[in-house]
Amino acid sequence: MPVPLVIAALYLILPLQCTGFGQENTRWVIQQQRQEFTIYSEFPVDVDAVCHQLQAVTKILQQQFGIEPTKAPVELILFNTRKSYEDYLKDELPEALNRRAVFFSDNDVSQIYAWKSRWLTTDLRHEITHVRLHQHLPFVPLWIDEGIAEYLETQSEESGLASRREAVRWKARLGFPPRLTSLEQLQHAAEMQSDDYRNSWAWICYLMNDSDTSREAFKSYLRKIHNGEAPGKFSSWVQPQISDLQQSANSYFRKSHFRLNSD
Ligand SMILES: [Zn+2]
Repeated sequence: MPVPLVIAALYLILPLQCTGFGQENTRWVIQQQRQEFTIYSEFPVDVDAVCHQLQAVTKILQQQFGIEPTKAPVELILFNTRKSYEDYLKDELPEALNRRAVFFSDNDVSQIYAWKSRWLTTDLRHEITHVRLHQHLPFVPLWIDEGIAEYLETQSEESGLASRREAVRWKARLGFPPRLTSLEQLQHAAEMQSDDYRNSWAWICYLMNDSDTSREAFKSYLRKIHNGEAPGKFSSWVQPQISDLQQSANSYFRKSHFRLNSD
């Protein structure tokens, strides 16, 4: 989840604790670099497997969304327990405490903090999506930021996706489809409920898979933002290309099978 705040203050804590002022620091049993990634971990982790996941997400973002990665350093800081993660972050970033992972970006470096759980791979895929989006775009509307992160956090057809799709489908059939104009009102991650994450995800599924028109319109909107333009809300901006956007999305959501991402 994105937390683009107090970056400078937080960033100071990592080198201090990693290097121990020149002494060997035994906190990290893994401290390895692969291309732009540096991994610090309190527990043994397959560095190549982790980097493979990060690269896979990066590649999909590049090929399917037009989100170009940079070579700027990305640091992963992995904790053995939730307590260890919380102790490390509680003073500098109390907002991180209710989450399994957070990311930070500034012009020079991005950092992902996460703790060991059975969702670690999912969490890292989610957070690297935020990193890449924020590297490429000067600002990222919240529903796009979380929608794409949710879209790419699992590999296609993993368990959980079917039930999420089912929930969207039934709500749409009952007359409560995900509404883009509602999602576009959300300004801060703290305002987002689980339904908002799921609805943002559903909108990305629709835009990327319904038709060439929907996909190209969405990519074109991302390009506008990348180019420093201020296109306004997507729902208004896209009108000339898709005049009945919400209606078109509703029929997509009601389908017995709407396509999910594939990598
Ligand atoms: Zn997120």
